[in-house]
Amino acid sequence: MKRAEKAARILEMLDGRYPKPPIPLSHTDPFTLLVAVALSAQTTDERVNLVTPGLFGKADTPAAMAKLSVDEILAEIRSCGLAPGKAKNIKALSEILVREHGGIVPADMDALEALPGVGHKTASVVLIQAFGTPAFPVDTHIHRLAARWGLSDGKSVEKTERDLKAVFPREAWARLHLAMIYFGREVCPARAHDLETCPICGWASSKKRIVEERRAGGGGPRSRETVAHKSTRKRVAKKAARRKNPASRRKP
Ligand code: SF4
Repeated sequence: MKRAEKAARILEMLDGRYPKPPIPLSHTDPFTLLVAVALSAQTTDERVNLVTPGLFGKADTPAAMAKLSVDEILAEIRSCGLAPGKAKNIKALSEILVREHGGIVPADMDALEALPGVGHKTASVVLIQAFGTPAFPVDTHIHRLAARWGLSDGKSVEKTERDLKAVFPREAWARLHLAMIYFGREVCPARAHDLETCPICGWASSKKRIVEERRAGGGGPRSRETVAHKSTRKRVAKKAARRKNPASRRKP
């Protein structure tokens, strides 16, 4: 199956499964989305959603956030991973937004990436979800799925982003990157997956890859079957050997 056909079928399946995937981080505007995404590094979305009501209760604009001290921000986000660095970045990026962008979040990739603690993925999420500017944020789930589905060679996140942008229609990027994240979390974890029964790899994977994953032990239900297959193969081989050489059955 060609890569474009595979992508079209994957998109159809994901659209059916996640028709309107919600943005998992609570926010009300581009600034609160930017802060929430910056907080989500090394932290679950659930954890971020627990701390942001307190933080945004104190400051939900760049101007108000810039007035808080780093310690005040830290007190609200302490339970997130890497909290001290994130508190410093949130204060610093708010100050830059006030000083250089009139207190608003710029809808521009370079300007977003220039903010402290804002990488390409965070900037991409803000661009596509807050401003509708085409972007394809690639997180660890999306990077893994693209490689497993044979849509990218998985060499780098940058390459995955380029490959996915090339193969999926631009109008689908906003919902598709969210659908892929949900699918990655719910169905396609880093380990313990079953290629033959999976709603995507069941048809998208090559036989070669299914066999290779089995041989590698997989880590999921398949790996238990692999063990069973191995022992079955051994039994069959022994039977065949006995058929060829009936003498081997006789006890000395
Ligand atoms: S088999 Fe399913 S769970 Fe495993 S890599 Fe493929 S899509 Fe993901």
